Amino acid sequence: MVVAPTVAYDFPHPTNVSFNGRAVRMMGHVTMSNLLRREHIHLKLGRLLDVSGGVISSAENLPVVKINGVDAQSTTTLKSGDVIEFHNGQDVTEPSETEYLREGSGNPQFLLGTAAITLKHGLDSGITVPLTSKPVPGPKAVALTFDDGPNPGYTERVLDVLKSKHVHATFFVVGRMANAYPDLVKRELKEGNLVGDHSWSHPMLAHRSDASARDELQHTRDLLRKLGATVTVFRPPYGSYTRSTVSIASSLGLRTVVWSADPSDYRRPPVGTIVARVMSQVRPGTIILMHDGGGDRSNTIAALPIIIDNLRKQGYSFETLS
Ligand SMILES: [Zn+2]
Repeated sequence: MVVAPTVAYDFPHPTNVSFNGRAVRMMGHVTMSNLLRREHIHLKLGRLLDVSGGVISSAENLPVVKINGVDAQSTTTLKSGDVIEFHNGQDVTEPSETEYLREGSGNPQFLLGTAAITLKHGLDSGITVPLTSKPVPGPKAVALTFDDGPNPGYTERVLDVLKSKHVHATFFVVGRMANAYPDLVKRELKEGNLVGDHSWSHPMLAHRSDASARDELQHTRDLLRKLGATVTVFRPPYGSYTRSTVSIASSLGLRTVVWSADPSDYRRPPVGTIVARVMSQVRPGTIILMHDGGGDRSNTIAALPIIIDNLRKQGYSFETLS
């Protein structure tokens, strides 16, 4: 009797699956994690974003991995004919509600005069972002505002320009800077400008507790009052605020004022860029954001007289907030 020699070869056999609608052929024992590695898939979690694009949670949505419509594990063995569906966790934005305002100054205020404004309130984060702000035709006026000072060496030069052009502006001062340089605040007031509250230490107030936000605003308001200011307006640093920030400010007698033109002068673009950005964004009622504090403001100061002259040529007048 002849016995044929037998050798136990375990020939790998193919596993043919459908991966996101595409045929994939792999050899041998194949698990879901083998397949994902072969397809260069890196599992990503979907984030929960607030209405301003900040991250509330970095692990809100898990990736979806299904075999034949059933959730699968990375260790699950694949069989020929399996239909595999995969996608990474999707980013989602928090639920929000939209509010339409049409009122005089508005609170928060984006424009001089009457404005029609749409706001989006994030319901998880409490953060508010403006969607649109349309001025209702009114007087051809703008407000110049300067943030983050007083700043020795620069605030004086801004004041010199305003004085020489017979223009008044609004200065949103940082409390701890005002505390260090009270004479600059007094000069702002003496020359007919309005001084507003820009918090004590310039934090992102949307991420502070109510008690801390109140301290930031109240401490600054009280100091400015001591320096002789009638303080009626508050501007949130970075435009970071919630509805509760606005109501805290209101309870301190302060209207929240944001802006409607931003040349990003704090990034120190060239003088011509600052001028061009302001001119392209201005409409009747625009509140223009610029900075006298927070660093070297030479370009802002050089742009200022050009901006004032250009706006005057177009028939604009200049108002302070009140
Ligand atoms: Zn600021």
